[in-house]
Amino acid sequence: MLTLLALSALAADPLVTEASVHTLDNGLTVVLEEDTRSDTIALHLHYGVGARDELAGEYGCAHLFEHLMFEGSANVPTNAFDTWLTEAGGWNNAYTSADETAYHMAFPSGALDMALFLESDRMGFLLAGLDQANLDNQIKVVLQERAEGYANPHGRDFDALGKLQHPVEDPYHHSVIGTVADVEGFQIDAVRDFWTRWYRPENAVLVLVGNFDDEEALARVEHWFSDVPNPGPADRAWSNKGKSPRGGNPPWFVTPADGVLEDQVQDRSLYVSWQIPGQSHADMPALEVLSWVMSGGRGTRIDDALYYDKNLTNDASAFAWYSDLDGVFVVSASTTKPKLSKIDKAIDKTVAKLSSTPPSEDELKRAKRSIRSYLESMMESPEDRAEQIAACMRMYGKPQCLDDFWTQVDAVSADDVVRVAEQYLVPEGRVSLSVVPPGDAGALEGATPVELK
Ligand SMILES: [Zn+2]
Repeated sequence: MLTLLALSALAADPLVTEASVHTLDNGLTVVLEEDTRSDTIALHLHYGVGARDELAGEYGCAHLFEHLMFEGSANVPTNAFDTWLTEAGGWNNAYTSADETAYHMAFPSGALDMALFLESDRMGFLLAGLDQANLDNQIKVVLQERAEGYANPHGRDFDALGKLQHPVEDPYHHSVIGTVADVEGFQIDAVRDFWTRWYRPENAVLVLVGNFDDEEALARVEHWFSDVPNPGPADRAWSNKGKSPRGGNPPWFVTPADGVLEDQVQDRSLYVSWQIPGQSHADMPALEVLSWVMSGGRGTRIDDALYYDKNLTNDASAFAWYSDLDGVFVVSASTTKPKLSKIDKAIDKTVAKLSSTPPSEDELKRAKRSIRSYLESMMESPEDRAEQIAACMRMYGKPQCLDDFWTQVDAVSADDVVRVAEQYLVPEGRVSLSVVPPGDAGALEGATPVELK
């Protein structure tokens, strides 16, 4: 009876998954989690290629494939991917980051074969459908997407911040969308070569969460994917070779810089950003608690200092953002009132105060509560779970990682929070970005314009 109760308590924890992991003969990793709450299936297929794997001249190519993968493959004509999936009751989307390219869809469980056929055809046989006309079309679409994104207010902020934070030769210096020159210049042979290098079953994880029987679903996956050829593993060490080695602890790049962007905005914004270690680093739980001590409404340090108490800004936030190789701890705020130098000083003062006034028990409890509900929200729907399981596979090589992370978060002390703040939120690893209306003189003094070519 006790054992049964313990088991059901375990299964009820949304951070826990009993997903099964399989490897096909061609190297494709398949992760299956039965979830019978609805009659749908969520699919996430993540490839281990992102902007950081692009060589000089290839900037934007990982994201370009996010488009080309919908343009047809050996047995799927141009435009049929979306039509066929929609007719079967499904929908799909994709995204690219510096670290990976993710394709995802959801569909009624009866459409599993259709979904697996579509994904396997483009994983194994995309080049048969990729011609110059498709490439030219998608180059235009991507350039348009880039132009529209950058024309939006604040559409360039994070690309500019990434540039300031990383030296030119670093894999995270250039943006995911790429440079106009590189995207315009893509040639069919080079693009085919990029795909061949990275789109391999051994460099992919397929996750299914939803209403299926484990064994039957695995048999369907084997049926559709077993003829995808295996050219061997992809070599990320090769594509990232010689680019900014990150030995020891950050800051690795001791080039503090203040940048400025003029943008079609009404108010002034300031981002202050520090280098932190990448995801799966042992300090990640303490940094996460620090970010929630700093921001998350009244009673948090940055929000009170900038907004609630002093009314210096229209908003304020602090967050830790992690990539595979490194991360950033960002404090940001926008204002129509004072010059940004005043905000800058207030941010530094608030950070420095952590040492003299460590977080109280109440602050820690509140931060941890917020993290717990955030983690649970990441494991809610089948789509959320499939995405998170894929992320855990990439970071830790296992489908379940959030419960471990939560255990570490729960153990974080006030001393831990002060230690990571003192270690990482230091001038040597700090950059700032002012975003101001055209001709406005409110940027930080000495800030230099950031150019995004
Ligand atoms: Zn796109």
